[in-house]
Amino acid sequence: MSDDRKNARHKASMEKQKAKVDARIEEASEERGIALLITGNGKGKSSSGFGMVMRALGYGQKVGVVQFIKGQQLSGEEIYLRDHCPQVEFHQMGTGFTWNTQDREGDIAAAQRTWALAKPMLENPEFDLVLLDELTYMLAYKYLPEEEVIAAIRNRPVEQSVVVTGRGGGSALQDVMDTVSEVKDVKHAFRAGIKARKGVDF
Ligand code: ATP
Ligand code: MG
Repeated sequence: MSDDRKNARHKASMEKQKAKVDARIEEASEERGIALLITGNGKGKSSSGFGMVMRALGYGQKVGVVQFIKGQQLSGEEIYLRDHCPQVEFHQMGTGFTWNTQDREGDIAAAQRTWALAKPMLENPEFDLVLLDELTYMLAYKYLPEEEVIAAIRNRPVEQSVVVTGRGGGSALQDVMDTVSEVKDVKHAFRAGIKARKGVDF
């Protein structure tokens, strides 16, 4: 086939595709916040959540971040947001959560303390975007009451978007979300013996 014919075919196919997409964009008429779950075993869940945080901040939107993760270990995103984005309300479960010491009661108390910071965000229409990083584990371990968390997501202000990350998440959580993406683990550097990398993994 000549280049001219190839180009003409390509153009025709692109025009067809564009018409389809335009029609679908036309059909979407509802204007409201979106609830997203980013789950799966592959790498990229939290970084996707923080990608949306950056997008929202770009438009001057109000953002809240709550990380349901253990520990004193700092992440690059936390350091950056604390240093450069004082307008972001940032909480981390941090101390008190001890996966290794089997202190179940202490873990539950830490989870509930952290949820008590997240819940008001989901009730506050000033927040455009709320990221609940690693929340799924709190549900999987039953450290937080699933019905309460789901109700808070469902009843949040209509213009507010919420992003939940973490493996699993369960069908009840999936039901309340508008968008559910599963990040698939095809290959991970860690399994080839490559150490977690500053700026990439944490
Ligand atoms: P990231 O924060 O990099 O987007 P994530 O949120 O998808 O990762 P988590 O389960 O929260 O994944 O784990 C965070 C850390 O574990 C990161 O250092 C990440 O590189 C690493 N990790 C994620 N998935 C895997 C995997 N399949 N095998 C090994 N390590 C992984
Ligand atoms: Mg994560």
